[in-house]
Amino acid sequence: MRVLGIEGTAWCASAALYDAETDSVLIESNPYEPDSGGIHPREAAEHMSEAIPEVVDAVLTAAEDRHGPDAIDAVAFSKGPGLGPCLRIVGTAARSLAGALDVPLVGVNHMVAHLEIGRHRSGFENPVCLNASGANAHLLGYHGGRYRVLGETMDAGVGNAIDKFTRHVGWDHPGGPKVEAAARRYAAGSDGPDDLLDLPYVVKGMDFSFSGISSAANDASDDGVPVEEICFSLQEHVFAMLTEVAERALSLTGAAELVLGGGVAQNDRLREMLGSMCAARGAEFHAPEPRFLRDNAGMIAVLGAKMAAAGDTLPIPESAIDPNFRPDQVPVTWRSGESV
Ligand code: ATP
Repeated sequence: MRVLGIEGTAWCASAALYDAETDSVLIESNPYEPDSGGIHPREAAEHMSEAIPEVVDAVLTAAEDRHGPDAIDAVAFSKGPGLGPCLRIVGTAARSLAGALDVPLVGVNHMVAHLEIGRHRSGFENPVCLNASGANAHLLGYHGGRYRVLGETMDAGVGNAIDKFTRHVGWDHPGGPKVEAAARRYAAGSDGPDDLLDLPYVVKGMDFSFSGISSAANDASDDGVPVEEICFSLQEHVFAMLTEVAERALSLTGAAELVLGGGVAQNDRLREMLGSMCAARGAEFHAPEPRFLRDNAGMIAVLGAKMAAAGDTLPIPESAIDPNFRPDQVPVTWRSGESV
């Protein structure tokens, strides 16, 4: 089976071709880069309307060059969650393309895709999944045909919390990679890390909160604390919270596998902390390569292929997008043949 995936929940207009026979994924992406501030929904949607046709065309051409006119067996798209104006463009493109090619349409939950790609790449059977993305942060575990939300942010997504601080200090979007670089410089510097700044650390069971820490980091900057020192402490606190809740979820479920997903998972320090925690408790840890971590259509095409193989396709009248689509709303049809 070959599936053309389309992603466009927020900033990344992307299309991909997944060939299940060879397990190969071709991804074409075109990011929206705001001139200032964070992501503006209207500007992001304007970007989608220009960039989605381009990336789809590039992937379709590559697919037809390789496999001829009947290259595509299904079209999968990100149905939500995400920004409504962007999702509507992606939904319209996917419906039109499925109709024109006369192939089934598959509606994929973007958060489940962030996690299923890690399960797919690792071959893990039944992992706990930590999604550390821009607008979200969830811990998921599979039980009784659904991904259950074991824990989640009570306010901001993890990437958005970091980006809120970088906007405050005047850095361009996205801020996460800049915070990582600044924290690394501080850690390697001559007056190195001694003590961490005292920032809010809020974990309640397996839920957590980031709104206080963004504000406290902003205040520290206003008080004249060097920005590299704040970046270091911000990362240590935020990633320690995620590591603590991930460990609690492994302990609660008895799982011995953890997969990480989402754009913030590109951060080396987060992967290092989670990897050490897993090693200490004898659990396996996997984070896919960066092209599958940030928003990308590859993960949509891969999950779309599993759903299509399970017959989980969408009639056009039921293909409306859902900006608030939660991962636990998805009946996990594609795992029914598995042992767990
Ligand atoms: P969602 O998938 O929840 O809709 P999103 O659309 O914002 O979120 P992602 O691609 O998953 O997109 O994540 C983008 C976020 O990842 C941004 O907030 C960005 O700052 C953050 N990010 C990217 N690289 C790094 C890094 N190296 N360290 C920390 N954060 C990072």
